[in-house]
Amino acid sequence: MSEPVFTPVALPYSQEALQPVISADTLSFHYGKHLQAYINNLNAALPGSGFENSTLEDIVRAAEGGLFNNAGQVLNHTLYFLQFKPAGNPGVPSGPLAAAIERDFGSFDAFKAEFEKKGAGLFGSGWVWLSKDPEGHLVITQEANAGNPVRRGNRPLLTFDVWEHAYYLDYQNRRPAHLSALWDIIDWDVIASRYQDK
Ligand code: MN
Repeated sequence: MSEPVFTPVALPYSQEALQPVISADTLSFHYGKHLQAYINNLNAALPGSGFENSTLEDIVRAAEGGLFNNAGQVLNHTLYFLQFKPAGNPGVPSGPLAAAIERDFGSFDAFKAEFEKKGAGLFGSGWVWLSKDPEGHLVITQEANAGNPVRRGNRPLLTFDVWEHAYYLDYQNRRPAHLSALWDIIDWDVIASRYQDK
């Protein structure tokens, strides 16, 4: 039997490190059960799909149906889980990323307000994204279900998961409260390196 092609990203923090923003229970289900299920489904769908030798991003760009849904959710959760750092020491963007946020949204506070509003207003399940378009502009988009900005030709930078499994144990129906709490655990060095990568 061959090894699975895709495996869950290793978390760079402990299961408790994101509390109280994201509880250890939520992280345990979200990472250990939901992401693992998308990984298992993706690996099961690969043989015979024509995407056996593709990168995850290439699958998300080009696949459709169940293969796209599971590959999209694996890519989305990988970017999501890698953008966090332990709670209690909130940061702000710096350098070229901070300048681009001011240029395209007016201020960091205006950007945060717009991002939260688009996350709160996304009907049903999906993701709100900050991405960089081919001309270098920053844009905030609402992506339904497994959507990712690579499908628009953009580079994904930051994302909030608005599927209920991301917050329901901790916040129940209060999605806006969850979204506004997430800024506390964003690792802006990770977002800046995504922005600046060649
Ligand atoms: Mn999720």
